[in-house]
Amino acid sequence: MANDSLRSLGLDVPVPFDVAGPPVPVLIAEWEWRNPLRTILRVSGWTIDDVISSPGIAREVRMHWRATKMVERRARDRERRAQLREEIALLEFLVGCRRQGLPVPCAWCGCLEPCSCDSLAS
Ligand SMILES: [Zn+2]
Repeated sequence: MANDSLRSLGLDVPVPFDVAGPPVPVLIAEWEWRNPLRTILRVSGWTIDDVISSPGIAREVRMHWRATKMVERRARDRERRAQLREEIALLEFLVGCRRQGLPVPCAWCGCLEPCSCDSLAS
């Protein structure tokens, strides 16, 4: 049956495995840096008592914590910039469609007819 449906699509390749086999187990793991302090302590081998009793260890843990937060902040900034680039590309596409006379609503005021926004976009 499966091979018949593949032939109807123009594919004459037999399926190399049983598609109706047992379900594949799913592994769900929490990202360990979701809790940076716990991960810093686990990787370094320090305990929270070490952090409290030693200013040097506390300083190092604080440095790793700040680095983690800086990486998170930069990732958020990158996402925001990528989202802005997508919005700008969509606006440019809509403006281009309106210049060609296509019935696309104005990105700023929403009207279908030529409007004063068109002169601002050029
Ligand atoms: Zn407009």
